[in-house]
Amino acid sequence: MASTKYIFVTGGVTSSLGKGIISASLAKLLQARGYRVTIQKLDPYINVDPGTLNPYEHGECYVTEDGAETDLDLGHYERFLNTPTSQGNNVTTGRIYQSVIDKERRGDYLGKTVQVIPHITDEIKNRVKILGETGNFDIVITEIGGTVGDIEALPYIESVRQLKWELERNCMVIHLTLLPYLNVTGELKTKPTQHSVKTMLESGVQPDVLVCRSEHPVDDDIKRKLALFTNVRQRNVIESRDASTIYEVPLMMYNEKLDEVVLDHFGLATKTQPNLDKWREFLTRLKFPKRTVEIGLIGKYVELKDSYKSISEAFIHAGAANEVQVKVRWIHSEHLTPKNAAKSCQGLDGILVAPGFGERGFEGKVATVQYARENKIPYFGICYGMQAAVIEYARNVVGWTDANTTEVDPKSSKPVIALMDEQHHITDMGGTMRLGAQKCELSKDSQAFAAYGETAITERHRHRYEYNNDYKEELVAAGLKATGINPESGLVEVIEIEDHPFFVGVQYHPEYKSTVLNPHPLFVSFVKAADLHRQNK
Ligand code: GLN
Repeated sequence: MASTKYIFVTGGVTSSLGKGIISASLAKLLQARGYRVTIQKLDPYINVDPGTLNPYEHGECYVTEDGAETDLDLGHYERFLNTPTSQGNNVTTGRIYQSVIDKERRGDYLGKTVQVIPHITDEIKNRVKILGETGNFDIVITEIGGTVGDIEALPYIESVRQLKWELERNCMVIHLTLLPYLNVTGELKTKPTQHSVKTMLESGVQPDVLVCRSEHPVDDDIKRKLALFTNVRQRNVIESRDASTIYEVPLMMYNEKLDEVVLDHFGLATKTQPNLDKWREFLTRLKFPKRTVEIGLIGKYVELKDSYKSISEAFIHAGAANEVQVKVRWIHSEHLTPKNAAKSCQGLDGILVAPGFGERGFEGKVATVQYARENKIPYFGICYGMQAAVIEYARNVVGWTDANTTEVDPKSSKPVIALMDEQHHITDMGGTMRLGAQKCELSKDSQAFAAYGETAITERHRHRYEYNNDYKEELVAAGLKATGINPESGLVEVIEIEDHPFFVGVQYHPEYKSTVLNPHPLFVSFVKAADLHRQNK
């Protein structure tokens, strides 16, 4: 294809309308028609990346293969497109300013006054264009975080204006808005959308497509009215109704012809229909499960379910693969003790102890591991959940009652989880953990190998503390198998126990790699074990 096409997705009226899902759905449709597509998220906050953000602020931090700590929307992009993203797919205002200021200090601006226009906007535009140029993509979809009219979003909207002007027909803007429904009069209201488009027009940006979120059908009269007030072609006013699952949205957008409208704008062929057979098969398995299993998710951020987005999506993929519905029971680790664990976990078919940081709620995680181990309930520990499993085993099976992670108790006499030497001198919090894809060798006689079907795997990391190899010999001799080892560092990545239907702890984050078309093997095996547990009850 001649030159890369750029699509910007902006949001109006309110936040949380699902720009990420609309962007991912459009990308899916274009990919299914044979185009090479990628998606990028521009976040208007000043943090350099979301790695230092509390999950309550911003939901999960999603980690890419190359170790970037990014916005959770990148997780949706990967789950929909089944292709990896990287650092270049998520840019924040903090990162933009950091690089402009670095350039200024180096003297790159040759004495010029450094300003928002052109220096910040140039930096933004470069981050967008570079993705298309170096990644060899036909289409780049760039989602702009926040809502039109936000002060923080102004430099981004200005960059879109400039790019639209520079790239002409190779650039387009999709504006996602909400049509609120007034119960008293029984009608959908278009005024907030009119105002939102006016706000964009004040910045010189004319949207080419409106995608209207609505709880009710958007009829032709409303589309005509919206078209008239916003200078958008009526055909380009697209309805987006609430869906029962986010995975339905690509098909809804296909029925609404969003992909055709986009291809039309770029003058690209619409003849070949998107191949969505596998996607449809997945949806059928998802919608018509044969059985239900209930899995407990133990974590300290359970009030905000977005904190565990990739895990809950991985359960949806693995559930569909097993033709079972996975019901998640969200359990707050802070309220768990060895005494009440049995009650809180009663009836569960599987237990997953989630990743996490710090002391709060950690003992609750250890108590749940003990319950799962002793009662032979399928157990899956991720990162902190793996560390909790090592500590529980050291305390209750080996008898080292003081065993702990130095993250919680730096004075523990048995620091079975501890900082590696290279982490000791680190003082900065941002971007300094063990991050991104690393190799792991699995032993053949393990549950992990049975799941993956291969010995050489790579998985993504995000943690500071590690299994302490000083205690490995004794722990292994006591029955805590180390079945996955990093071939370069010798660090233990996977632990398991015998005589248990499923007991696997992984130091890495398998949830980041689970996609619709490639459900993660460990999640698939864990859900299968939970399903068997339920049937044998
Ligand atoms: N707090 C632990 C560590 O830093 C685990 C991190 C995690 O669960 N992602 O090693």
